[in-house]
Amino acid sequence: MEKAMSDFVYYNPVKILFGRNKISELQTLIPDGKKVLIIYGGGSVKRFGTLDRVKEALKHHIVGEFGGIEANPTFKTCMEAVKYFKEGRYDYLLAVGGGSVIDGTKFIAAAIEFDGDPKDIFAKGVGKGLPIESAVPFGTVLTLPATGSEMNDGSVITFEEEQAKISFGSPHVYPEFSILEPELTYTLPKRQLANGVTDAFVHVIEQYLTYPVNGKVQDEFAEGLLRILIDIGPSVVDEDHHDYALRSNYMWTATLALNRLLSRGVPGDWSTHALGHEITVMNHTDHARSLSALLPAVMVVRKLKKWDKLVQYAENVWGITEGSEEVKIDTAILKTVAFLKSIGMPTNLSAVGVEEKDIDTLVKQLETHGNAAISERGDQTLEVSREIYRASLVLDF
Ligand code: NAP
Ligand code: FE
Repeated sequence: MEKAMSDFVYYNPVKILFGRNKISELQTLIPDGKKVLIIYGGGSVKRFGTLDRVKEALKHHIVGEFGGIEANPTFKTCMEAVKYFKEGRYDYLLAVGGGSVIDGTKFIAAAIEFDGDPKDIFAKGVGKGLPIESAVPFGTVLTLPATGSEMNDGSVITFEEEQAKISFGSPHVYPEFSILEPELTYTLPKRQLANGVTDAFVHVIEQYLTYPVNGKVQDEFAEGLLRILIDIGPSVVDEDHHDYALRSNYMWTATLALNRLLSRGVPGDWSTHALGHEITVMNHTDHARSLSALLPAVMVVRKLKKWDKLVQYAENVWGITEGSEEVKIDTAILKTVAFLKSIGMPTNLSAVGVEEKDIDTLVKQLETHGNAAISERGDQTLEVSREIYRASLVLDF
């Protein structure tokens, strides 16, 4: 018999300002008198004028800038920002960028107020996993719809020395507000648009493709988001397609894909992210490309464990009504692969530069980072993860 929803708490205090020219509202969003440190990445916000718009909106505040947060933000760079913030006696943070800048800002906000070594905010082979008691308040201006970080309490930081990508989460690192201007996506290159669609797709899948639970809202919400991404993905990725309605749907879908609403009361299986992080740490593959390269193999190797939900996925997301359950599942996997390929994403590990000889390292790293028993049942052992890595090397759809 299907399980009922488990008890849950849903708390999400992020104020969303969605639409045109919302950056102009920054002045009233950030309290008067705050000294604001703007955090940004490698310079796209300078090149495309977003930083100037932010500074213009904040002309009555005292503002400073800290740029250079990398894609896959590093502990080292974030700690430089912590130092800069403290020396400059700032008291508010504003992230202007994609998931990397927002994740970096979450960690900076927590580290500034952390009593002790900020590495201990993280567990899993890096630190002691100590709780955060407080964080500096911050807001975000999102420039890349993908991660959902603008409306959640999670962050992923890269430790170069330890070769680790580790997440932390705390209610103290919810942004106070996030500005979502769909027009900011117009400058995104094709590759980042495809990454964004894919990351959002995999976030929904990981909160959906588990053993079945009677969570009708969560299931139908997830299926709706997946159908939207499949429907609009190819047009979104056409970088010349500056269609406001299209980009609005893309942006809002990516946010809803990971604002934790989908996962309340139902299990989740974040193993594709866990396996993908090790690839990014090893060879700097883009986050979403690592996920895309693994997802087909996850579906194939875990087919028996996820059978009922895969049938549901085939029927409700892909509209497959003909054939046996197995035929439906296999057709849905093939359609998933075709969708990812249609937006230019890799669908096996060879396409992201992984070789057979790397698999031992990847599996060892999973163990070091506390991922020896993952998935919603905790039954994805290192051997199963090895099988997934191997399968995604050889699978060629
Ligand atoms: P990103 O790493 O933030 O950005 C990727 C690239 O896109 C950067 O080179 C950036 O350039 C550029 N870019 C951003 N906005 C642009 C725009 N409007 N126009 C042109 N170029 C633009 O990508 P992301 O996919 O959003 O974030 C990935 C990170 O988020 C990974 O570290 C991943 O692990 C993490 N993540 C977090 C969560 C979560 O819940 N917190 C979930 C999934 C993934 P600049 O650097 O020059 O700005
Ligand atoms: Fe992700």
